[in-house]
Amino acid sequence: MPSLFSKIISGEIPADIVYRDDQCTAFRDIQPQAPVHVLIVPNKEIPTVNDVTAEDEQLVGHLFTVAARIASREGIAADGYRLLVNCNRHGGQEVFHLHMHLMGGRFMGPMVVRK
Ligand code: 5GP
Repeated sequence: MPSLFSKIISGEIPADIVYRDDQCTAFRDIQPQAPVHVLIVPNKEIPTVNDVTAEDEQLVGHLFTVAARIASREGIAADGYRLLVNCNRHGGQEVFHLHMHLMGGRFMGPMVVRK
């Protein structure tokens, strides 16, 4: 079964796509937590960070390059932004297709919400 994000990448499920290349696709989060909230997703389905292998190192690095490019395009590069990757239950991961959150457009506050 393709993941929810694979269905967005293939166009089966609509999304506001802001960037696409042969390695990754970026689209706006459906429930934005900041004025800019974009998900940067490898086109290849990797469920979690635990599944990243040495073979994926170039791809994972590419997500950062794309994040910086989108941040610049969205006008938030100079003020700054947060990049976040959740892993499994304790990380609060909801969609099991690796993705990087790019959030900005306001002060993002302390890094981790205290319990
Ligand atoms: P996670 O908690 O797995 O790191 O983040 C999953 C993110 O995917 C959440 O921020 C959630 O709002 C977003 N999301 C879930 N379903 C959809 C959808 O159908 N479309 C879009 N654009 N985002 C989604």
